[in-house]
Amino acid sequence: MNLHNRTIFEIHRIPTDQPQRKPNKVTVPKVIYTVAFQHLIQVTTALVLVVLTRPEDVKEWRMESPLLILIKIAIASVILDTYQYWIHRWFHVNRKLYRMFHSVHHELTVPFAFGALYNHPLEGFLMDTVGGAIPSMLLNMHPWTSAIFYSVATLKTVDDHCGYAWAWSPASLFNSNGAAYHDIHHWGKGGMYNFSQPFYTFWDHLMGTEYETAMARKKLQRETEEYTQQKFLNSSKDVSITSPDAASTSSTDFSDEKNSEDSDTSDSKFTAVKRNSVAAKVASSVLRNRKPVDVRGFDDDDDKTAVGFSEDIGTTSLSPTRSSKRLADKKKKK
Ligand SMILES: [Zn+2]
Ligand SMILES: [Zn+2]
Repeated sequence: MNLHNRTIFEIHRIPTDQPQRKPNKVTVPKVIYTVAFQHLIQVTTALVLVVLTRPEDVKEWRMESPLLILIKIAIASVILDTYQYWIHRWFHVNRKLYRMFHSVHHELTVPFAFGALYNHPLEGFLMDTVGGAIPSMLLNMHPWTSAIFYSVATLKTVDDHCGYAWAWSPASLFNSNGAAYHDIHHWGKGGMYNFSQPFYTFWDHLMGTEYETAMARKKLQRETEEYTQQKFLNSSKDVSITSPDAASTSSTDFSDEKNSEDSDTSDSKFTAVKRNSVAAKVASSVLRNRKPVDVRGFDDDDDKTAVGFSEDIGTTSLSPTRSSKRLADKKKKK
């Protein structure tokens, strides 16, 4: 199908040619080998669990009703998402864990379907195998219910990494957690956000780690900071203009003036101007060195990304930053 010289695949393909986006750091054969190994671990673990938990008379182990299967899968999806959000976030916040384990998954800066389960084997075991086993055990699932749940979760993970945002994807019926959402997590500064996987996004929304909202919040924060600093700069200029004598007074002049008859008035004038000029210099240097609001790709580095998480997570306040607060306080004292 060709719509306006673009195929249906091109229309829904997630753009990956951003200049800031680095290429994948791993070869396709290594991805296939690692994913196959992880599947082997998962299948073995599942078989061991089935053998250990089966009743003495296997015939009693009847298939659950379709309604019960649906209810159990719905609850299990919430349990799995909760478990994976916090483990995933922990793997990013902890620098050592990120370097040793999770950085393997982030070698894929341009995700593709069969790299969905490309992880360090230990991380894969903890995140996916144990993550799938926990709801299965907690809800006492029949092996077939577990198999259906695990297959759905795996398919969803593959969809999240497929590189296409299909409008008719069943995953997109429930919420915005899909390929486009997870793609943000795989490159640039987006790596500090969108930890939720594989089903929902509620943990990101609850914890302030959803990318779009966090960027809007940061933009507001910077605008507030800029406004406060600009206001302070303007008021500093006013003080300098209304006190021309004091403004032109040098430190030597000040010591002379201190001994004069009207030393108290001159002292306060000088202190006000001096305080303002120092603060104005700080404020203007902050303004000069300000980064653009959305700097995706700037921190596309494993170590920086890992550090960046602990710095950025939890920045939920819309209040001015410490530097602008200090400047505002100085102004009040004046
Ligand atoms: Zn990650
Ligand atoms: Zn991923």
